[in-house]
Amino acid sequence: MTLLSGKQYIDRLDQMNNDVWVAGERVRGKISAHPAFKGILNTKAHIYNMYLDKEYKAKLTYSNNGIDQKISFQIPKTIKDLQKRRQATQLIARTNGGTIGRSPDYIHTAIMTLSQSKSFFDTRFQKNLNSALERAIENDLSYTHSFVNPQTNRSTHYTEYLHDLKEGEIIAARMLHETEEGIIIHGARLLATQGGITDEILVLPAASTIMEPWYAFAFTIPSNTKGVRFYCREPYSTSTNNNLFNYPLSSRFDEIDTVVIFDHVLIPWERIFFYNDCKRAKTVFQQTDLNMMLLFQAVSRQIIKTEFLLGISESLASSIAITQYQHIQEKISEIIVTLEIMKALLYRAEQNASPNAYGMMVPLATPLMSASTFYQKMYPKLTDFLHQIGASGLISLPIEADFELDPTLSLEHYLRTQTLDGKRKVQLSRLAWDLTMSAFGSRQTQYERYFFGDPIRLASALYQAYPKEPFTDHIHHFLKE
Ligand SMILES: Cc1cc2nc3c(=O)[nH]c(=O)nc-3n(C[C@H](O)[C@H](O)[C@H](O)COP(=O)(O)OP(=O)(O)OC[C@H]3O[C@@H](n4cnc5c(N)ncnc54)[C@H](O)[C@@H]3O)c2cc1C
Repeated sequence: MTLLSGKQYIDRLDQMNNDVWVAGERVRGKISAHPAFKGILNTKAHIYNMYLDKEYKAKLTYSNNGIDQKISFQIPKTIKDLQKRRQATQLIARTNGGTIGRSPDYIHTAIMTLSQSKSFFDTRFQKNLNSALERAIENDLSYTHSFVNPQTNRSTHYTEYLHDLKEGEIIAARMLHETEEGIIIHGARLLATQGGITDEILVLPAASTIMEPWYAFAFTIPSNTKGVRFYCREPYSTSTNNNLFNYPLSSRFDEIDTVVIFDHVLIPWERIFFYNDCKRAKTVFQQTDLNMMLLFQAVSRQIIKTEFLLGISESLASSIAITQYQHIQEKISEIIVTLEIMKALLYRAEQNASPNAYGMMVPLATPLMSASTFYQKMYPKLTDFLHQIGASGLISLPIEADFELDPTLSLEHYLRTQTLDGKRKVQLSRLAWDLTMSAFGSRQTQYERYFFGDPIRLASALYQAYPKEPFTDHIHHFLKE
């Protein structure tokens, strides 16, 4: 088995009986039948099916010794491989307007990258990197991930010292001790998007100024490992808002975000990538090029999301005949500029890719880092433009049932525009609202700001990584001339 159908993925998940909590209750029975997960799991099943569909298969898979495998597992060796990888990501993203940040290819990319970089890891654990990739491919696994500690205290000097704490007071997940079978992890981690609805969880060290050995671990384990619990934030997809017309995005693409609790969880030796290893914990993202490979996926998706926003903005503006106004043109042109800048940065990263020490073709870092920093700032502005284009149209939003009322006083008539009948206009406006104003939409904005890390520290990382000497040298020579 290497390519699972959507049904096989859902059936397996339903049988896992993961410890998932929603609104104060444990999810019992089939998780795919729960209103919070039904929409997103149907969507994920569709994504799984795309890999088997004749129409998409050639674009989404590659042949490894005659066996079809997902491109996200392919080790990129050439620029062409990176292009295929980008196209596959974008094909999937297009089915959801780029609103699903953690489509399975995201963490597949991480597993592939870590495995390819196995010589970065201690020899004792290198075989675990191999088997992680083999297991992922063989079983077509999906993953959630957690890279962040809870927000207890973010001051630079803070850490939890065990000698100050009773065991019950531990907050951030830490290693307690070793046993013959592995290490014991106890405490909480943030913010596992899709937690509980994936086969496994990837845990990597939380980026922090303080890296104590008890936080310096990395591993994957099945989501139903004893002691692992997922607490979901309030879902945006519920039994009352699952109508496609009313909630075109929330009803299908709410990925759910979770707090993960590890209650004395045994991580078997064969699942560990490292532990008690501050040096590797501090450098794993940079040294293995994991950051760049994940960013390549993310920026590819963000381009599709910007196209989606552009399409909605222009459709809304045309529908009420406001494209003639200069400030509307200016706002839409800002979306166009964002799209073109993102594409240019991605192509520059792709075209200037080079092989790294582990034989993997890696996109050029600084354009990707620039794209990510730029988008963190731009995305909230783009949503603001859409709000100003839609104006009250993003508030006067009857639901589908309202169009079935008395035809003589019909909303179909009163809400019509130059180009659209009333129902179609409301459908379009509801799409704009769900992308940018509903609870789902607000989360999208917060996601684009934070999903890859704190924008302030990412901008600082770009500043530090950027080779500035040629420019300061030039100024030096310029002044001497
Ligand atoms: C919708 C969403 C989905 C997410 N999904 C995932 C996921 O699937 N897996 C995962 O692991 N994570 C996920 N994250 C978490 C994401 O990685 C973090 O939000 C991000 O790393 C920032 O960390 P934080 O939220 O804890 O913010 P904090 O670090 O607590 O920052 C809060 C504020 O304090 C400032 N601040 C804190 N420390 C410093 C400092 N040292 N220097 C300067 N300023 C500082 C920040 O700039 C910010 O303004 C998700 C986040 C969101 C919003």
